[in-house]
Amino acid sequence: MADTQENIENTTVWTNWSGNQVAQPAQVVEPADADQLQALLKTAPGPVRVVGAGHSFTPLACTDGTLVRLDRMGLVHSADSEKKAAWVNAGARLKDLSPALGAHGLAFRNLGDINAQSLAGATSTATHGTGETLACLSAETRAFRLLTAGGDLLTVSNDEDRDVFEACRVSLGAIGILIEAEIQLVAPYNLHRRTWAEPLGEILSAARTRWQSLRNYEFFYIPFSGYGISIAHEETDAPATPRPESDDDDAVLGLKRARDYAGGDAPSRRDYLAGAFARFEGEDVVGNSWQLLASERNVPFNEMEYHLPQETALDALDEVITYIERERPDVFFPIEVRKTAGDDIWLSPFSGAGRISVAVHAFAEDEYDFFFSHIEPIFRRAGGRPHWGKLHSLRYRDLRDLYPLFERFCDVRRRMDPDGRFMTPYLRTLFEPEA
Ligand SMILES: Cc1cc2nc3c(=O)[nH]c(=O)nc-3n(C[C@H](O)[C@H](O)[C@H](O)COP(=O)(O)OP(=O)(O)OC[C@H]3O[C@@H](n4cnc5c(N)ncnc54)[C@H](O)[C@@H]3O)c2cc1C
Repeated sequence: MADTQENIENTTVWTNWSGNQVAQPAQVVEPADADQLQALLKTAPGPVRVVGAGHSFTPLACTDGTLVRLDRMGLVHSADSEKKAAWVNAGARLKDLSPALGAHGLAFRNLGDINAQSLAGATSTATHGTGETLACLSAETRAFRLLTAGGDLLTVSNDEDRDVFEACRVSLGAIGILIEAEIQLVAPYNLHRRTWAEPLGEILSAARTRWQSLRNYEFFYIPFSGYGISIAHEETDAPATPRPESDDDDAVLGLKRARDYAGGDAPSRRDYLAGAFARFEGEDVVGNSWQLLASERNVPFNEMEYHLPQETALDALDEVITYIERERPDVFFPIEVRKTAGDDIWLSPFSGAGRISVAVHAFAEDEYDFFFSHIEPIFRRAGGRPHWGKLHSLRYRDLRDLYPLFERFCDVRRRMDPDGRFMTPYLRTLFEPEA
């Protein structure tokens, strides 16, 4: 085992991607392997939190104890192209795993809007993409190797310690440190990507059919414009075509300019945006799945996303748009609408049935209190469950009512971490009734 001291960094200020969460861990540890992590944690001050890419908007990774990074623990450890499965470093980033898995003839079945996240960070919060028949990333996990609060290395799956495995699939880092994950994959595939603009009314009347007929379908509504952009992907055998560099960041900055120029003057903002839509060309390209599914997002924002029952989602979207266009001229980021298949994971927001996700964003420099005062009540009335990594105000008593197996998760958590080594004040509000 290598010297462990060189892998400890003291007094670092840590911030998440958008900068809305700040912490000062007493130490940050970055072990080279599982044995080293095991040794480091024997004396590490708690609470112990693992961080992936720090892309969650809630204080999930914040600690004044020990922050653990698994970035040095490799990529693909073993791959089985027959079984279409691989064991990987749970801390590896999705954007590094995709090409590495491609070299083994394997690919993720689906991805979210970005691929900067770590695998364990993404699965621990039920990160999802879009697709009527495509489940969240957590549903692709088959087994984990984890380090427990007590310092034991454990392998869990459907066949071994099944309760712990089920809890680990969406765990918010509260069950153990996921060191390796076995994931279910597919053979590499190309996608045909199309993007186009159209009035919101047309999108809403076609959305259900598009979700049913297209592999991946989502839309972004542009506030104050009456228009949205649709994105569709379908599997194809056609070879890749050239793809111009993405102008998504410029487009978002253009929306900011419209906001800064016209503000609450709705007619002139609509005119300004109508000009931009008239020039919108859209995309029609073929490419490798992971390169087309995930984008880069460089204009920082904060976000609230709720996963809503299909019956109520589009009415809730209408309420959200009405509120924003009446009361919030500062909002310019698109509202994103996606669909994810159901699963049976204890803390997956998609457990029980597929859901439609509606996400509202605020520029990172703007305040976002209205998420809690005005958007969240709409989502809650519609029967929504919050994305675990995005802003929400729910606590133990709310969550217990949203998840039939919530108490079962809490029982496993208490059994696995009786002394609360992984628990911060924030996590206690989620998992302990008395917090
Ligand atoms: C620009 C942007 C775009 C996004 N797009 C999407 C999207 O399209 N779809 C979507 O669903 N979400 C999306 N998200 C949210 C994001 O996917 C989740 O918040 C995800 O959890 C972030 O992964 P991460 O690696 O940064 O994890 P972190 O935020 O670092 O950690 C998340 C949780 O996982 C735990 N964790 C991390 N590693 C481990 C480990 N090895 N063992 C145990 N626990 C661990 C942490 O302790 C924490 O509780 C987006 C976020 C941003 C900032």
